[in-house]
Amino acid sequence: MKPKERMAIERQQPDELDVAYRITNFEEVTAGFDEETAVREANRCLQCKKPTCRTGCPINNRIPEFISLLRDGKIEEAYWVIRDKSSLPAVCSRVCPHEFQCEGSCVRGKKGDPVAIGMLERYIVDWMVANGKDLSRQCALPQNKKVAIVGSGPAGMTVAYYLAHEGYPCTIFESLPVDGGMLTVGIPAYRLPRDIIKAEFDALKSCGVTVKNNVTIGKDITLEQLHEEYDAVFTAVGAHDSRKLGIEGEDLDGVLHGVDYLRRVNLGKKLNLGKNVVVVGGGNVAIDVARTALRTGSDKVFILYRRTKAEMPASKAEIDHLEEEGVKIEILAAPIKIHGENGKLTKIECLRMKLGECDTSGRCRPVVIEGSNFMIDADAIIPAISQNVNHLADKGIDFETTNWGTYVVDHETMQTSVDWIFAAGDAVLGPQTAAKAVYQGKVAAESIKRYLEGTDMKEGREVRDLL
Ligand code: SF4
Repeated sequence: MKPKERMAIERQQPDELDVAYRITNFEEVTAGFDEETAVREANRCLQCKKPTCRTGCPINNRIPEFISLLRDGKIEEAYWVIRDKSSLPAVCSRVCPHEFQCEGSCVRGKKGDPVAIGMLERYIVDWMVANGKDLSRQCALPQNKKVAIVGSGPAGMTVAYYLAHEGYPCTIFESLPVDGGMLTVGIPAYRLPRDIIKAEFDALKSCGVTVKNNVTIGKDITLEQLHEEYDAVFTAVGAHDSRKLGIEGEDLDGVLHGVDYLRRVNLGKKLNLGKNVVVVGGGNVAIDVARTALRTGSDKVFILYRRTKAEMPASKAEIDHLEEEGVKIEILAAPIKIHGENGKLTKIECLRMKLGECDTSGRCRPVVIEGSNFMIDADAIIPAISQNVNHLADKGIDFETTNWGTYVVDHETMQTSVDWIFAAGDAVLGPQTAAKAVYQGKVAAESIKRYLEGTDMKEGREVRDLL
């Protein structure tokens, strides 16, 4: 096919569940491509000599190669090309913000729509599952050194994946009763079906990884105690503590924080927030909260965001889904006080904002319009503005941390200031994407292997800057 013909093919759109139906349940909203659509989309790729898509991908996935194999019908080969760089392709293909990563850097996006790289990756992984292919790699013979992993989210799963395949027995300690950390309790099933996460854990467990649930490090067992039994410890505790708004009335009954709310719903708690729900924030957590509130019975859901829609950090596809489902985005609005009666919230008072000066990245500062106060009636208010790292795991150990509360690590090795402890993911980066956690987990796994073998920690390593 000539480049001109490739350029003439329009980006393929996946099928989606009907809006009226999907807001009644947690079924996956976006369907995968079928074979014909996947090949047509793959044919849009120009197989660039300098593939900028790879540069935009935090794990440097071999994108043109797997797309080319898909075109030729070599799906199994394409899968193993993806696996070379990614420990969690089924997850990343669904939840990564591709528009800000690989697709945001695809050359075809300069004059139209980028190649739907995430959907092509998902097609390959789903094809493997649908055709009963074995997703696990050969496991090496057991080594005599053991590794403890704190947290079963994407970074913890990645370290377990690489070390287990090198033969190191790994035990994951998870404080929740379910596997997957933020993937399971932070992301609703309509974006990431639970059988996808389960399949990843089944593959890990078949390679000798053990998961101990309901164990909180720092409470049930300390890092020092872990070190008595394990030769190295990797901590990826995530960033699960909701950041507060810091306004009057935040302790009233009816105010729930974003990740706490999602955790409770995703762990099966029946929570009806009432008719009117106000969510504060513009990122993916705020969007997930708003869409989950609709699915658990609320009628009117608002999002309050202090800038405009163009500045919202959430992915565009998620914002489109949100609006299709009837959530109203109140832009240029910031909460200043939560009002209540008898200890229960009744309203949220807000101020109108306008955009002021922009910084070098083009992001403009929201500025208050004095005297523009307005009220919104609410049965529940859910701040979802960001998360902090929970440092429970550090008890008794003098870790170096940043002003933001994240772990200080050597980014070339992911080693902390304590030589037998390595850290990665949100605990190092703050709330970030699954792909970045996967990349850092891969770096940490390599470092832990070198540490256990007593070889040089840095020689011949390539480092990507993810911040
Ligand atoms: Fe294909 Fe886009 Fe990557 Fe070029 S940048 S190889 S067109 S996916």
